[in-house]
Amino acid sequence: MTGGAIRLHQLAKAFDGVPAVTGIDLDIPGGQFYSLLGASGCGKTTTLRMIAGFEKPDSGRIELDGRDVAGDPPHKRPVNTVFQTYALFPFMSVADNVAFGLRYLKTSKDETKRRVGEALELVRMSDFAKRRPGQLSGGQQQRVALARALVLRPRVLLLDEPLGALDAKLRKQLQLELRAVQREVGITFVYVTHDQEEALTMSDQIAVMAGGRVEQIGPPEEIYSAPATTYVAGFLGAANIFDADVIESRAGSAVCTALSTTVHAAVNGVSGPGPAAIVIRPERITLLTPGDAIDPGCNVIAGTVSEVVYLGSSTQVHVDVGQPTALVVEVPNHAGPRSVIQQPGAQVQCLCTVDAVRVLTRSSTPVITDPVADSLVETGLSAPAAR
Ligand code: ATP
Repeated sequence: MTGGAIRLHQLAKAFDGVPAVTGIDLDIPGGQFYSLLGASGCGKTTTLRMIAGFEKPDSGRIELDGRDVAGDPPHKRPVNTVFQTYALFPFMSVADNVAFGLRYLKTSKDETKRRVGEALELVRMSDFAKRRPGQLSGGQQQRVALARALVLRPRVLLLDEPLGALDAKLRKQLQLELRAVQREVGITFVYVTHDQEEALTMSDQIAVMAGGRVEQIGPPEEIYSAPATTYVAGFLGAANIFDADVIESRAGSAVCTALSTTVHAAVNGVSGPGPAAIVIRPERITLLTPGDAIDPGCNVIAGTVSEVVYLGSSTQVHVDVGQPTALVVEVPNHAGPRSVIQQPGAQVQCLCTVDAVRVLTRSSTPVITDPVADSLVETGLSAPAAR
């Protein structure tokens, strides 16, 4: 099987006059594991459904391997979809469920048997071929749904939160399995999720979406360590985001005023002088103890410890730096529970390299910086921690 390349050009869709997707451009290379990541309601599923053909775009182009398929019905597209709900036929065996789509392709009995066997082997379900879906766990049912989609040999597999109904431990296991299956079959996977850890674990590339638009596209390492906007920085992992004023900027670096001091930071491209924001990941900050040497090339931010939170593998130290929110420093507990000696009230210096501070463009979409706020956004309530 080979992977199909997808190109979306200025794709737009509104429901009852309310925009869901507002002119997005995406270039998805064949054979990639490509994730659409974003909070609930940002337009991920609508984008996926337009690629599948279940939803008709108001405008724009959908190209599959260079051919515009926007006018083709779903069954004429070399694309298949796996949903969060497995939608297996309850009275059919696992093998018959997987074979179902092949009936309509007039596949011979022998070939059907061979292809079903291969598909079940791929998802490690060969021993369950005779069972009914009701006799399987949720994870096993989703593996069968995956086999049923792959047996048809699509060039592109669309996956809409396929692990959403599973518990956290099983999710993590299936993330790795799905990634392995994608590598083995080599076709393009377009994966919709609101779970940033899932997207980071599995993807070759991630498109972060917000408010019907694409905020940033890149490989996981780039999206996490060099976010372009306040929204992307806040959505992926823990982030210290503060207001900043860019004083001067050259290609790749900038001098800013932030946290009541001068901060040297990295920037994607060039940032014009003026209001912006900076992000520093908690694990990129070193907490200095009195007497430690300070590397002159690094940023030093002074403050007072306000809280120390022990998390097992690491300790979070909250440092009051004279801003509405504390600077959070994550200290790995290399030396066990006593790795952090500072107590609340201690004067500290926080050290971070220029590369660890990134200049961000302010997003028009509210920034989500903690999981509680994230879940509130998902349920349609307002987010108290949004900026
Ligand atoms: P989730 O993660 O919750 O599935 P999403 O990012 O996939 O969210 P979409 O399902 O694409 O978001 O929805 C985008 C917007 O379009 C939302 O505001 C949603 O309410 C709206 N929408 C989606 N489908 C329809 C529909 N059939 N009719 C009316 N509005 C819709």
